[in-house]
Amino acid sequence: MGVDRLWMENGEEGSMRLRDLNPKLSDTGMLRFYCPVCTPKGDAHGIRVPLAPAVDRHGQSWQHTGEFPDTLTLTPSVDAGCWHGHIVNGEIVS
Ligand SMILES: [Zn+2]
Repeated sequence: MGVDRLWMENGEEGSMRLRDLNPKLSDTGMLRFYCPVCTPKGDAHGIRVPLAPAVDRHGQSWQHTGEFPDTLTLTPSVDAGCWHGHIVNGEIVS
């Protein structure tokens, strides 16, 4: 219940946005942001997502449209284990 309540306090109409998770986009195309599940519980850790043409060590890469961070959309979904969801138009969608 704590997570839902924090999300409600965090943004308009209960939404959480990428912008709220201290996002960074490196020159090499690596997107980093705080985990939207664990961070509100006080266990902040980062999630890294390589945006095409960048790839991670598994050769995986995410397609992206829009502008970082406010209108960014990623394809496919992001599975970080503790959080599996989408980033759509800069919004965190679980
Ligand atoms: Zn997490």
